[in-house]
Amino acid sequence: MKKHNFSAGPCILPQEVLQQSSEAILNFNNSNLSIIEISHRSKDFVAVMDRASALALELLGLENKGYKAIFLQGGASTQFLMTAYNLMESKAAYLNTGTWASKALKEAKLFGEVIEVASSKDQNFNYIPKNYAVPSDADYFHCTSNNTIFGTQIKSFQSIDIPMVCDMSSDIFSRQLDFSKFDLIYAGAQKNMGPAGTTLVVVKEAILGKVTRVIPSMLDYRVHIEKESMFNTPAVFAVYVSMLTLEWLKNLGGISAIEAINNKKSALMYGEIDRNPLFTGFANKEDRSHMNATFNLIEGANQALFDELSKVAGINGINGHRSVGGYRASMYNALPLESVEVLVNVMKEFERKS
Ligand SMILES: *Cc1c(COP(=O)(O)O)cnc(C)c1O
Repeated sequence: MKKHNFSAGPCILPQEVLQQSSEAILNFNNSNLSIIEISHRSKDFVAVMDRASALALELLGLENKGYKAIFLQGGASTQFLMTAYNLMESKAAYLNTGTWASKALKEAKLFGEVIEVASSKDQNFNYIPKNYAVPSDADYFHCTSNNTIFGTQIKSFQSIDIPMVCDMSSDIFSRQLDFSKFDLIYAGAQKNMGPAGTTLVVVKEAILGKVTRVIPSMLDYRVHIEKESMFNTPAVFAVYVSMLTLEWLKNLGGISAIEAINNKKSALMYGEIDRNPLFTGFANKEDRSHMNATFNLIEGANQALFDELSKVAGINGINGHRSVGGYRASMYNALPLESVEVLVNVMKEFERKS
């Protein structure tokens, strides 16, 4: 029986996507060839890349609005430097809401002056700072929509008059937003879109080409746009599985449909964290992530018992990140509501047996 997979990333993918992609490993499109042994320039694979890019723009509501979607390598971590390399002439503004945001900030400092507009480090990143000022003379503003490790999420984005760059690695395609507020969105595939190995970048073309520095080809967004993500060999299998997952999401009804399910899952999860006297939530209530629920046991609770009950129920991947401790239940798009029900029942059983 399939486990209830709450892994923070790489994460659960839809079962039918796993089925389809394993078939394509053996025989892709009835070609009697594997998807991973054909040319990335073959007609069949070019169609995959085109479809994946088109689906990304369509699901985000960004078609015909001057945006391009490209699939790159090097993970979201490469985007920490690539965004700065391509967009920072002299200074940029950063919101520091956790480990990943801090890493982005650190890389940007290699390229110019970085203004940290606000930080929640003072409380181990358990909240999202609000009402900060974004300097209008900065080249761009960078934020992280969902803090995977700490379990916080930005619920409303300030309107600003400089380009807005957002790391959406762990909540892209999970909730409706006005995505046209953002000028550049990036996301490593392995949190909510596909397997590790590719990173989606959605960028408004008009913000590119404004810096004076010389950009190496592999790090230049314009090169990848012009070559339609085929400047070098793309991560063919990761892009293919991402395409299938986006197709799955579209067939389900798109972001609005998945958001309704995600809201049910997180309401159930946080409802139990708040009700059960043996647990406490980590993140500030109003900033709680719908994707990653972080929670701890109260002092003196029997951790070994909870871990054993979880294991018996087939629950995988709920250990918290070392910087928070406790537990983290990641409830990405492909996680069924039923898995959250199983976890909540384990928490109730734990209360009865404690
Ligand atoms: C996982 C994660 C990253 C790092 O992604 P890599 O693809 O491993 O480089 C960056 N930002 C956020 C928000 C993440 O969750």
